[in-house]
Amino acid sequence: MRERFYIRTYGCQMNERDSEALACLLEEHGFSRTGSEDAADIILFNTCSVRDQAERKVVGKVGLLKRLKRRKPDVIIGLMGCMAQNHGEAIVKRQPHVDLVVGPDHIHEIPYLIGQALDGRGPLVAVGSTTEISTELTAHAKGRVSAYVSVMRGCNQFCTYCIVPYVRGREKSRPIEQIVTEAEGLAAGGTREIFLLGQNITAYGLAELRARNAVSEDASPFADLLRAVHAVPGIKRIRFTSPHVKYMNRAFLETVCELPKVCGSFHIPLQSGSDRLLEIMRRGYTVSDYLERITALRTRPGRTSFSTDVIVGFPSERKSDFEATREVMERVGFDMAYVFRYSPRAGTKAAETLVDDVPKATKEERNQILLRDLEERAERQNQGYVGEIVQVLVEGPSKRNSERWSGRSDTNKVCIFEAASEIQRGTFIDLAVERATSHSLYGRVVSR
Ligand code: SF4
Repeated sequence: MRERFYIRTYGCQMNERDSEALACLLEEHGFSRTGSEDAADIILFNTCSVRDQAERKVVGKVGLLKRLKRRKPDVIIGLMGCMAQNHGEAIVKRQPHVDLVVGPDHIHEIPYLIGQALDGRGPLVAVGSTTEISTELTAHAKGRVSAYVSVMRGCNQFCTYCIVPYVRGREKSRPIEQIVTEAEGLAAGGTREIFLLGQNITAYGLAELRARNAVSEDASPFADLLRAVHAVPGIKRIRFTSPHVKYMNRAFLETVCELPKVCGSFHIPLQSGSDRLLEIMRRGYTVSDYLERITALRTRPGRTSFSTDVIVGFPSERKSDFEATREVMERVGFDMAYVFRYSPRAGTKAAETLVDDVPKATKEERNQILLRDLEERAERQNQGYVGEIVQVLVEGPSKRNSERWSGRSDTNKVCIFEAASEIQRGTFIDLAVERATSHSLYGRVVSR
């Protein structure tokens, strides 16, 4: 019988992407996928280190598997991703029932490491940063309408609160030709939308240019990449995350506004609306730099929508800083945001040098205020679509009600409509929007 594997993913889209690619790679190596932890012979956790809470969750979950390991000693338990990189050997010292600890740069080695572990050679630890991105981790589930493509790893920014540069290492970008080949393969398999991923995606290719002393203020290798992917026949939409304001230069902005396949929804981390805090965070831009980029993106044809990441309760955040954040959020009109309550992350500059002096209750209160603002704003903005026709890329049956189908608008709004035999996944329909909530648009298909 083929060994069955189960992967549980925590954290960001990069992790989702790595898990999907690993699952395909394991299938190519003869393992089979199961959706149940109980039925699995191999249990893998793809972990996140960004917040302490995320790590504690995984520690608790893995601790619970000690009993399972006693009952089924042959089951392989592995931790991969940022937490594996962050704690390495210490994980197997603290949790000896763990067989594999694999950092993000070594995930493609997992089929081989599982083989070793099945032969009783565990525990095995593969961590550390490599200078190249493995091409083996580019497998995809066939026929996905929308597929993630990882274009770079790591980050060189060292924002004071962030652990990513320490666990994901320095920026390394894949060559454009390699990414285009991957996009062509996806298009041939039915994918219509490509979601380009990188921790600091607008810095794509810059580290490599810098190493050759060829970097200039106008250079945007990411803009070149967008053009190259745009030229792939069959790919109809391009999205990307996460850009950094510092690298959203003129070449990038003009390219985004010029290429019709680049969608009109942009996720641009703001983190704070206070210049004082942006400086302490070492973000490398001011509020006015941020707003300038938003204004430039709004000049693209068609609608735009913006989402962001924000931290509340950062050390020394005063009421006036928080109100500044709230005001910028209203000004930009974010309809979605990941709001994080600051907590110090061991190993970062902020944890070592700043006092976590905003009371927990204040962080929670600020968090709730922003969430309420977002809900109201999203509802208001979505109501603005009622009576309009939006073009929707059809994804398939809706998660909540299989009699309805869903897809997304160019601005990344979830659109719900009645299923019909002539409507195919991966095609475009025109939807007359009849009703809207803060989460979705509902409507009638008027052409397909
Ligand atoms: S840009 Fe800053 S917040 Fe984003 S991954 Fe890099 S260090 Fe972390």
